[in-house]
Amino acid sequence: MRSSAAAGTVGAAADPRAGLDALNREVIQCRRCPRLVAWREQVAREKRAAFRDQTYWGRPVPGFGDPHARMLILGLAPAAHGGNRTGRIFTGDRSGDWLFASLYRTGFANQPTSVSRDDGLALTGCYIAAPVKCAPPDNKPTVTERDTCASWLTAELALLQGLRVVVALGSFAWDTALRHLGPVRPKPRFAHAAEAALPGDRVLLGSYHVSQQNTQTGRLTESMLDGVFWRARELLGLGATAGQEGQR
Ligand code: SF4
Repeated sequence: MRSSAAAGTVGAAADPRAGLDALNREVIQCRRCPRLVAWREQVAREKRAAFRDQTYWGRPVPGFGDPHARMLILGLAPAAHGGNRTGRIFTGDRSGDWLFASLYRTGFANQPTSVSRDDGLALTGCYIAAPVKCAPPDNKPTVTERDTCASWLTAELALLQGLRVVVALGSFAWDTALRHLGPVRPKPRFAHAAEAALPGDRVLLGSYHVSQQNTQTGRLTESMLDGVFWRARELLGLGATAGQEGQR
């Protein structure tokens, strides 16, 4: 049976916070993808040695952030020992360290770190979602898994009605944004700092993903990532944050 959230009826709620809370309560119960359910639970049982004393989340990882966001950040899927451990997207791993430090520098986060669901992190004007909400083996969901999870993102997008800028971390997120918020013809190519106009007066911005593969090799630097979020601020008509003008 199709859930009310997947059918979009939760999106009818007037308060996006209540709607997202209701949606996320449904998301975390989802077991539609047998391979991913098995993997997320196996990782949660076996754990990484450094986290053996912790109870892993081991479930779908819902979106996180400001329900009134005008900027959405799209990733790929939770990390096995990051989001799948802590229960919050981009939380508890090196990718999250990079992302939230940048969001703090550019005025979207109240603190530069993200270590657990109760660490006090709050985002302003920004929401983060994964197109695939369960950790996949090798960070590679199948096309079927991607498509099976798509209705959750559709429901999230229906609730985030103030969105004006979508930042896609990597080509998977870029293509996801175009599928959900397009069409755009001809299809714009993904690149770091690429921009594409979306229907409805929205803008898609590309950034290399904050994976260690990119950050440890220097393919993505802090200033490159900050540059994307500074550009987002510009598109949203937001000024530089206090004390940060000189860093641009
Ligand atoms: S990936 Fe998405 S659709 Fe598949 S089980 Fe997880 S939440 Fe459900």
